[in-house]
Amino acid sequence: MRLDKYLVHCGIGSRKEVQKIIKKGYIEINDNQIKKSNIYVSEEDVITMDGERIDYIDHVYLMLNKPAGVVTAVEDAVHDTVIKFVPEQYRHRSIVPVGRLDKDTTGLLLLTDDGQFNHHLMSPKHHVKKVYEVTLVESVSDMDIEQIESGIVLKDDTQCQPAAIKIMDEDTKVVHIELTEGKYHQVKRMFAAVGNRVLQLKRIQLGSYVLDEELTEGSIIEISKDDIR
Ligand code: URA
Repeated sequence: MRLDKYLVHCGIGSRKEVQKIIKKGYIEINDNQIKKSNIYVSEEDVITMDGERIDYIDHVYLMLNKPAGVVTAVEDAVHDTVIKFVPEQYRHRSIVPVGRLDKDTTGLLLLTDDGQFNHHLMSPKHHVKKVYEVTLVESVSDMDIEQIESGIVLKDDTQCQPAAIKIMDEDTKVVHIELTEGKYHQVKRMFAAVGNRVLQLKRIQLGSYVLDEELTEGSIIEISKDDIR
């Protein structure tokens, strides 16, 4: 790969910016100062900028605590999208959200440019676990829980897989629900099917990824490659 392309890929800057950096002599390849952008480099080369090693980044994995009011899309003619939270240095990559949360849903959303990883987490064949914290208008009854836990049928006759429920408060209005599928507006429709209504919905887990409690709404962090399983 060309040196300038490599540096863009590693998030150093835009093509123009990295070409300037190279011209000014900040880059060394295997301890040799390089001032030309059209040199070809490989992953075995040791590349430094101002003495600091630049490691090749294959893919980027980000965890966002999605706030309400933004849509889970790359582009939208009317609303802000979750892409506005992607750090500037990764904007040139084809980063997309992993799955989808409704505009008013908050919580854990992963974003990546790794298509295989995205497909693995989202494929219905893999039954990846999704846990939501749900705040309801009405208390849930034992009968509601039994129906949802044994696989509820939605108002449009869609059959849902059994979903475990854990009650989180005395009023039984806050629950955690664990799904292994991702149908359109699924949690809202499941509770509508038992005559209830979702007031607030927050995703707290996707597969082995748990929402970092330190991560405030609208904050995004890079997940290291070691976290990717
Ligand atoms: N279920 C819903 O109803 N909405 C979401 O955003 C996610 C799951």
